[in-house]
Amino acid sequence: MSADVRKIIIIGSGPAGLTAAIYAARANLNPLVFAGGLYGGQLMLTSDVENYPGFPEAITGPELMERFRAQAERFGAEIHNEDVTKVDFSGSRRRVWVHEREFEAESIVVATGASSLWLGLDNETRLRGRGVSTCATCDGAFFKEKEILVVGGGDSALEEALFLTHFGSRVTVVHRRGQLRASKIMQDRAKKHPKIHFLWNSAVTDVLGDGKVNGVVLRDTITGAITERATDAVFVAIGHVPNTDIFSGQLTLDDRGYIVAPDGVKTNVEGVFVAGDVQDIHYRQAVTAAGLGCRAAIEAERYLEAREAQAAAIG
Ligand code: NAP
Repeated sequence: MSADVRKIIIIGSGPAGLTAAIYAARANLNPLVFAGGLYGGQLMLTSDVENYPGFPEAITGPELMERFRAQAERFGAEIHNEDVTKVDFSGSRRRVWVHEREFEAESIVVATGASSLWLGLDNETRLRGRGVSTCATCDGAFFKEKEILVVGGGDSALEEALFLTHFGSRVTVVHRRGQLRASKIMQDRAKKHPKIHFLWNSAVTDVLGDGKVNGVVLRDTITGAITERATDAVFVAIGHVPNTDIFSGQLTLDDRGYIVAPDGVKTNVEGVFVAGDVQDIHYRQAVTAAGLGCRAAIEAERYLEAREAQAAAIG
């Protein structure tokens, strides 16, 4: 079966992918977007977004992503809620598969984002969905008037902790060091909140419970002392890993699996551009991802124009 050939295919539908789609669509490139089965990226798992410019009253993550998507579709982006299962960028063609269906494009924007990291404990896996979660927005409501523990010391951990105060009787942030990594404003808010408590220099080494979580084992990271603590829920918020499995062997990845793009958008393969958290380990904000999506689409447009000009010159 012959491939469906496009000018541009965008893989991913967070702020980076959908901004690339808006720009590519407005440039009449008729982008085909593979949004993924769980479209919208990490903002779909976020409550209020207070730092995306233009929304002084805040907007929920899912609502913001619906707006991105509607804007891309308004200009003609074709968006499929499907996951790309394989790519081949090795020859002169940029090939993309969704299971057996093959697509081809003159240019590609990779914007597959990142996923939450887990602690890597056997019982954490066993008790996922039974008290262990990485998504307060999704699972917080199950723990009304319960004891909740949040693991991590960054903005994500404090954001989760603050959101979880709507439900839990007490929210305890467990951090492996004595100092938070989170921004000052989030620290101030969390430290001031009457329901939020901190357990410093503590690592979760096991999660306890049969059918559901009833406690954790903690190690004091300074003294090594081991203690147990009762809790009904454990929310893990310790950072992310890039979603780059399908690009391994196709694009240059760094030792943590992020796509390497020295200028922020151009990969090692001509015509293949990257945007957002799948490449950016420093900022990881919705607004920076959107900016990178814009850059990637503009670079793709210039690349396509140059190709056309070259083809016309040849004959
Ligand atoms: P992060 O800033 O990388 O923080 C991860 C936290 O988890 C760190 O405190 C780290 O401890 C801890 N950690 C990592 N691995 C661990 C492990 N195996 N066991 C225990 N603790 C572990 O990640 P993030 O909080 O997801 O934030 C990522 C980016 O998104 C940041 O740029 C952040 O500003 C941004 N963000 C912003 C907002 C907002 O503005 N409202 C909300 C969410 C995220 P150490 O400190 O010891 O390394």
